[in-house]
Amino acid sequence: MAEICYDNESVMTKTTSTVVKKTAATTTTKRRERSSSQAARRRRMEIRRYKFVSGEQDAVFDDGELQRRGRRESTVTYEIAKTETAKEVVVLCESLSSTVMALPDPDAYPKYGVASVCGRRREMEDAVAVHPFFFRQQTEFSSIGYHYCGVYDGHGCSHVAMRCRERLHELVREELEADDADWEKSMSRSFTRMDLEAVALNAGGTANCRCELQRPECDAVGSTAVVSILTPEKIVVANCGDSRAVLCRNGKAIPLSSDHKPDRPDELDRIQAAGGRVIYWDGPRVLGVLAMSRAIGDNYLKPYVISKPEVTVTDRVKQDEFLILASDGLWDVVSNETACNVVRMCLKGKVNSQLTSSPENDVTGAGNVVVVGGDVSNKACDEASILLTRLALARQSSDNVSVVVVDLRRDT
Ligand SMILES: [Zn+2]
Repeated sequence: MAEICYDNESVMTKTTSTVVKKTAATTTTKRRERSSSQAARRRRMEIRRYKFVSGEQDAVFDDGELQRRGRRESTVTYEIAKTETAKEVVVLCESLSSTVMALPDPDAYPKYGVASVCGRRREMEDAVAVHPFFFRQQTEFSSIGYHYCGVYDGHGCSHVAMRCRERLHELVREELEADDADWEKSMSRSFTRMDLEAVALNAGGTANCRCELQRPECDAVGSTAVVSILTPEKIVVANCGDSRAVLCRNGKAIPLSSDHKPDRPDELDRIQAAGGRVIYWDGPRVLGVLAMSRAIGDNYLKPYVISKPEVTVTDRVKQDEFLILASDGLWDVVSNETACNVVRMCLKGKVNSQLTSSPENDVTGAGNVVVVGGDVSNKACDEASILLTRLALARQSSDNVSVVVVDLRRDT
């Protein structure tokens, strides 16, 4: 949850905002059904959760939900997304579909890294989702893979952020399958449906989390959502809340989203027009409570806090280097430019890997142990995301910190 006031550097730079018109789907695409589906399924992307406690050397595999009651501040949770090889791609959630996707061109496989750290907070309320090839646009002779990344920063409890991690990419896929011609409409509908699910969950669903004791209602729980859909030609970003997406193009940091803070002039006007107030209580807050003006969930702050995302569609160019999605635990203490410089160094191999992988070189001094996940092709992105989380902690970020780094270079 955001704790720090509006950051001037987050003013969005106008980027190309064309709505892409896509070729209508046809049925002539060859479907490469694979007989070895079971083997491929075994090789599916895994997201494994590791728990590290200060002073312990061994990672403990944790299959449970993110329950961290009473955890010591030195306990750090990293979610490491890993794939066994870059050539093996199936949908992430087997429960959605067991259909094995056609093997993509390995060159088109996105390179990404993820690091998500609880930091100094008692509870982990961030969630991250990465789904390569979550949707395939059918063209006359082939199909084009779209990739999905999302960072969700929960507040009040983790259950809305966790539900976003489980569901939002599914909703986006359903909307794209219904109509993939208008990004703004598809993303807005997806977020609206996600919000309806979160509101229903708050109102009495089976969240199975720490706020269960507050039943029958948890209407003060919500989450940000910053989502990026990567296509071969476009970078689509949909944002709701104060997490942020930043593109590095030709060495320059270009924000692709604009933080939804209550004192952003247009957001302030909207809140007041709806009959709400922004009260300064440890920074500007809607009704003196929530330090962001848009979010998924938060039943009791409607209609002042809305779930409608702002959507940008940016043409990819060869000067594009990488994309960073992160929660405000990073952006509160690290500028867009600094973050891009750090990632740039990592992708160029100019950072001593001990900085990102060795406990002895823990720059935070908080006993945070970092593990590099993913295969070799993603190593640099893993290192970059881990180093950014460490930098945020070293700069005394008081929040959970979650970072996704996606390498956009086509010639590496
Ligand atoms: Zn909960």
